[in-house]
Amino acid sequence: MSEHEQQESPIATVERPLPGTPRDHLSSHTTRTVLRIQHRMLMAIRRHLDENGFTELHAPVIGPVTDPGCRGAKQVDIDYYGRPYKLMTSAILYKQAALNAFDKIFCIAPNVRLEPPETANTSRHLAEFHQIDVEVAGYTREQIMGVARDVVVAAVREIVTTMPDELKKLDRDPAAFADLLENPFDVITHTAAIDRTGGDPHAEIDWAAEAEISREASRPFFVVDYPKGSRGFYDRENREQPGLLRNFDLLAPEGYGELASGSEREFEYARIVTRMRETGENPAKYGWYLDMVREGIPGSAGFGIGFERLTRYITGVEYVWQASAYPKVPGVHSA
Ligand code: AMP
Ligand code: MG
Repeated sequence: MSEHEQQESPIATVERPLPGTPRDHLSSHTTRTVLRIQHRMLMAIRRHLDENGFTELHAPVIGPVTDPGCRGAKQVDIDYYGRPYKLMTSAILYKQAALNAFDKIFCIAPNVRLEPPETANTSRHLAEFHQIDVEVAGYTREQIMGVARDVVVAAVREIVTTMPDELKKLDRDPAAFADLLENPFDVITHTAAIDRTGGDPHAEIDWAAEAEISREASRPFFVVDYPKGSRGFYDRENREQPGLLRNFDLLAPEGYGELASGSEREFEYARIVTRMRETGENPAKYGWYLDMVREGIPGSAGFGIGFERLTRYITGVEYVWQASAYPKVPGVHSA
């Protein structure tokens, strides 16, 4: 295949610049600088979590079932010795499993999601990406939000302190993070966010609205209490306010948008089965997971931070694919 063909997209609607061939992309000054910063971010995050008692596990790539809760994206089926398996869209089910053995875990989890081709134009979707995926037994939403904030602050502090010149080379002013490093992150409810931007109070905040509230902020902030219809079965429903979830998103400022999603988790068998049915999932597909839940799993809270998204925010690059060594832009037949 020629270099030209390799970069071509079958999707007529792709308007953005696309990554070049692997050689061109990897050897560009921008990519090399971004990847060196990304490497240091990961070192800082691992060190921070290690110092706080977390054990790193390595997330699986395939399984009989995966996270159904990703808006609009298709899962990838594979033939696993004659049985249909999936590539992981997230590690959520396995994170809950890990808590049978460890109280505080994290993984750097690869995810594959065939996002709709039009997301090639959002600057923030890849078909293959990684999450820094964290889960803690017995934590509340507020406690896990504190962990998410600390992870972001650890990464930013490391880069601002040790790589300010590299940030400047990317035209990213280290002073952009002064507010983040000095002040707590604000918390607004989903209802308050929808009041500001318009939109459906029973659904996700759409991308345009999310970009709008993100642009108005100067440091990351949390949106909490999403409505039940908007998320997967594992986000715990508020017992005092049925219909609202004990969950959150962490949004970056300056228009970068969503960095992380997290929640307290459902962990009781009957509630999980009910929530599966409510979200249109067939419980029969979740054999190993429901067997485990029936035997008992701890209550927990956790989150996943999109690692390429966090890298994009810290480095200030325009497109999330610039934060990936081997980017897969949705709908584009690249290497
Ligand atoms: P989700 O469970 O869908 O909220 O995904 C968790 C995190 O992964 C999000 O907050 C994003 O930071 C990141 N993420 C989700 N989908 C994508 C994607 N298609 N490309 C890049 N990052 C993503
Ligand atoms: Mg999300």
